[in-house]
Amino acid sequence: MSRTNHQYRLAARPVGLPRTTDWDQVEEPVGEPADGQLLVQVIYLSLDPAMRGWMNAGKSYIPPVEIGEVMRAGAVGRVVASRHDGFAVGDYVSGGFGVQEYCLSDGRGVTKADPALAPLSVYLGTLGMPGMTAYFGLIDIGRPEPGQTVVVSGAAGAVGSLVGQIAKIIGCRVVGIAGGESKCRMLVDELGFDAAIDYKSQDVKKELREHAPDGVDVYFDNVGGDILDTVLTRLARGARVVICGAISQYNNVEPVKGPANYMSLLVNRASMTGMVVFDYADRYAEGVAQLAEWLAAGRLQAVQDVVEGGVQDFPETLLRLFRGENTGKLVLKIADEA
Ligand code: NAP
Repeated sequence: MSRTNHQYRLAARPVGLPRTTDWDQVEEPVGEPADGQLLVQVIYLSLDPAMRGWMNAGKSYIPPVEIGEVMRAGAVGRVVASRHDGFAVGDYVSGGFGVQEYCLSDGRGVTKADPALAPLSVYLGTLGMPGMTAYFGLIDIGRPEPGQTVVVSGAAGAVGSLVGQIAKIIGCRVVGIAGGESKCRMLVDELGFDAAIDYKSQDVKKELREHAPDGVDVYFDNVGGDILDTVLTRLARGARVVICGAISQYNNVEPVKGPANYMSLLVNRASMTGMVVFDYADRYAEGVAQLAEWLAAGRLQAVQDVVEGGVQDFPETLLRLFRGENTGKLVLKIADEA
């Protein structure tokens, strides 16, 4: 069968927010799988803040996407042709298929997604990379103990909404920081956070004094910038600060704004540690099993924001992350499941 693939390739390295001119939309015929390959039709594309970093040149935890390359993206799709022993036509799979409609893969890094266990899109969120980030970042680096106070920023997003819920399961007091009243209401009313702070309309320092009166034992930072700096002033003795992300800084044209209040680490004998989810790849099975168990037991909610459209909607949908327009895991659905 002859099929056409529509792809987004990186055309230029963005300055500030990505623009449409930073992409080339390319149309090309879809190849047939060679021996040992499978052909995947992409159904759900994962949109992640990290994509902005992958567009930059320079050394990072993963090589940059090169100019002319298909944009890197996690995705879930269906196998539509296979000459690979491990995958059959009709299997649902998750992998780094890129921003395109079809992907020829050799099966490396590809795992099966069971729609009977969870909706397919959840394999990009709670049971995917953001889930692993929340689970291992909190458990392994945050090391929260029952009764301690955990503060998380980006709290209504993919990672943050899970961090707060996992901390509640552990028995912590949880305070979320998010943008806007409706996100804050969701955190408390639907996800069971103890309190939420709207950084867009409230004084974060004052609210932290009220909601974390004994100080912050674990701060899980998704945003960096001023919010990180403010939370540093409220650390408890022995606090752990998990540096997961700094979305407030990703589109800066000025140098990244570092924390001025870092001496609080000294005074409070606290630590600040960066984490990269890929370092936990050999423990993903453990993380997935635990999160799937909590999901099945109704102890965890997979908050998702599924935008329906086509691959051509990728550039505009990506910007929703930087405008705070998503609630939970942002996913672009570009094909029907069956
Ligand atoms: P997300 O939280 O679902 O979406 C991004 C959210 O960031 C937006 O909804 C927005 O929420 C908030 N935001 C945007 N601009 C902001 C600003 N200037 N100041 C404060 N908040 C801002 O995204 P995610 O996938 O869960 O990722 C969250 C963070 O984790 C990102 O920094 C990401 O890079 C990082 N991450 C790190 C790893 C790792 O291995 N280290 C892995 C995955 C993700 P509001 O409406 O609340 O502003």
